[in-house]
Amino acid sequence: MNIRRPAFPHLGLCVVVLSFFGIARPLAAWDRDVHLALVKAAMGISPAAEEHLPLEFRDVLYKELTDPDYIDKECRYHCADTGAKEPALVAEQLLAQIVSPKTVLKPYPRAQLVGRYLHYVADAVAPASLRRENAPKLLNFFANKDFIFFREKRAPLAAPLSASLRKRAEEMVWANANAEAAYTAMFRLAVNTLADAMLLLPAREGASAPDQSPVWFLVNRMDNGGAGKATEGHYEKGSTTETTTYHSYHGYSYDVTSTWTTWNWDPGSKGGGESFRKLNMLERLGVQLAELSTRQETGRVVLRGLLFNNADLCAEGVGLKAGNWSWSLPGLMPPHSIRYFEAEGPADLLSRRLTNGGKATQCQEKVAPPYVSASRSLVLGNTGSTPNFDYATTPVDLSTKPKSSTVNAKQGD
Ligand SMILES: [Zn+2]
Repeated sequence: MNIRRPAFPHLGLCVVVLSFFGIARPLAAWDRDVHLALVKAAMGISPAAEEHLPLEFRDVLYKELTDPDYIDKECRYHCADTGAKEPALVAEQLLAQIVSPKTVLKPYPRAQLVGRYLHYVADAVAPASLRRENAPKLLNFFANKDFIFFREKRAPLAAPLSASLRKRAEEMVWANANAEAAYTAMFRLAVNTLADAMLLLPAREGASAPDQSPVWFLVNRMDNGGAGKATEGHYEKGSTTETTTYHSYHGYSYDVTSTWTTWNWDPGSKGGGESFRKLNMLERLGVQLAELSTRQETGRVVLRGLLFNNADLCAEGVGLKAGNWSWSLPGLMPPHSIRYFEAEGPADLLSRRLTNGGKATQCQEKVAPPYVSASRSLVLGNTGSTPNFDYATTPVDLSTKPKSSTVNAKQGD
């Protein structure tokens, strides 16, 4: 038999070492706790969606949600975009079983199927780096970020479901210049997709809850060393290293590591003043660039994100600036509102210092689309671990003090 040598002989020793560690490599795909967090968050932003989940055997539903595949327990293979177990397709098949008029499901198997269905919906819209065999775990998914999520109205998931899910997944690969900063936008997309997927299930009897909720804030509570020192938002040049495992026909595997330049958005902070404590997002007053995803294309850079006016007054002149480039939001931004934006800049935008501006002003603006009201919101502290959303229940009024009453999210098991 013709034994082929690995294609990268100079990696010889590395190959052996990395393959050894490869055995103990963390799980691929969204991990169990994240699957649970995504579904709880979807139930949180849409009480209507929750009313489409069966009440009987919720424990079974959650069990199947986190462990849906007895053969591929650790989500190592079924998350890949290709193959018979492509998650979007599996989700579509499970939905067909659940809603089939031919079979009346008993409560136990129904709960199982629904849990499994929600698992594969989430896998279908996982970040691109997770959607391949043996993907390394996403590190720092929740760490050092402010998450804002709320019910968004997108084009509903239509039949065939697999095609709709693939379309949503395209958004997960949009950001290519600051993948980590885009995690918050990805989380919002996945949570909304799960709520949409729940709405495709039959509603419970008497369902009447609204398909909306207050805005959720998962506020960064980690101290990253920036305490007491004010910094502006800016891009940080860095590098990303990714390792891909290749399996040979002869039973051994080897890893290839590539490194490339990345630009990561650092949102900056206002100093904590005398207390030398870094202010969290809800303590910083005024207009903030609360979320930013970046796409570098040939000849231009496209920015998408959320602006957040955390003030009792309106804001005027809201916009972004980087060198001689600027972009402004038309009109006035109402008090305690959030707005999605998209802006286009020159190709070298990322090498410039990007700042955001906006001035408080009196006005009578009412919050109406495309603005989202954040005046009553659900606030949780983000300690960097996977949050347990059971813990947030009572909306707080952001327009009245105190603003520092965030609680630390209880961590998942
Ligand atoms: Zn999975």
